[in-house]
Amino acid sequence: MQPILTELLNLPGIEVENYTKVADRLILEVEAKTTKAKCPRCGEESNHLHQNRWYFARDLSISGQEVLLKVNRRQFKCKKCEKPFSEELEFIGKRRKQTNRFAEMIVQQVLHSDMHNVGKQNDLTDEEVWSMIKYISEKKLRIDLKPLKRLGIDEIALRKGQGDYIVVLVDLDRKIPIGFVRSRKQEEIRKELEGWGKEVLEQIIEVSMDLSGNYKGLINKLIPKAEVVADRFHVTKIVPEELKTARNDLQKANKENKNVNEKKKIEEALLSGAEKSEKRC
Ligand SMILES: [Zn+2]
Repeated sequence: MQPILTELLNLPGIEVENYTKVADRLILEVEAKTTKAKCPRCGEESNHLHQNRWYFARDLSISGQEVLLKVNRRQFKCKKCEKPFSEELEFIGKRRKQTNRFAEMIVQQVLHSDMHNVGKQNDLTDEEVWSMIKYISEKKLRIDLKPLKRLGIDEIALRKGQGDYIVVLVDLDRKIPIGFVRSRKQEEIRKELEGWGKEVLEQIIEVSMDLSGNYKGLINKLIPKAEVVADRFHVTKIVPEELKTARNDLQKANKENKNVNEKKKIEEALLSGAEKSEKRC
């Protein structure tokens, strides 16, 4: 066991057994501390190790170094069923190539940027990022939708400026994403919402979305009792647009300006204002 690395890794119940470094990657060999596991078929505990099974999974970086876990998902043999089974590991889903906390971190980044850039920065393909978003959203959905009262519908660009979006459904009170839809198509969003079940939809009292009103008809149909309101987040996004229009008007008017000095000054002011507002967006 590597006590310092185990402490640094900070995954409850998991020990670092060994480590190597390949190129700039830190590879940590990890295993659960327990010596037994519960059979998923009959619930009986078994400590009869059938075989070790290693595979790699990406985890959070340590001091700027990519971390790969070499995970031992052990197989035990159940005495009752007389069949082998794989142990459950809390920090990673079955057949996932990333730990849960890594996927959660990626989803948080996507919410503040766009999918393609997050992928690039973390050495992941668009498909890998999308698969993590789906995985985390399904985990969240399984957790609890009962307290959902106020729903937010927001759009995130997959690639900035290419018109390719995903739709994020947010619980506005808990401030957590509760669903992701790969496209802006009404049909896809309808499927996702209907998947929540009638009971959940009926308790929603408010739906907040952008001003384009894309989904208003759909929401009125699916959640007729909810009040549809304009999302403040989108309202603030629109403000720089209005500034741009005002600036264009002033620019046009300034072209006719006979006072050369004043004309120059206004031009300069407009230019620096444009830069400022560009940066803010
Ligand atoms: Zn069994």
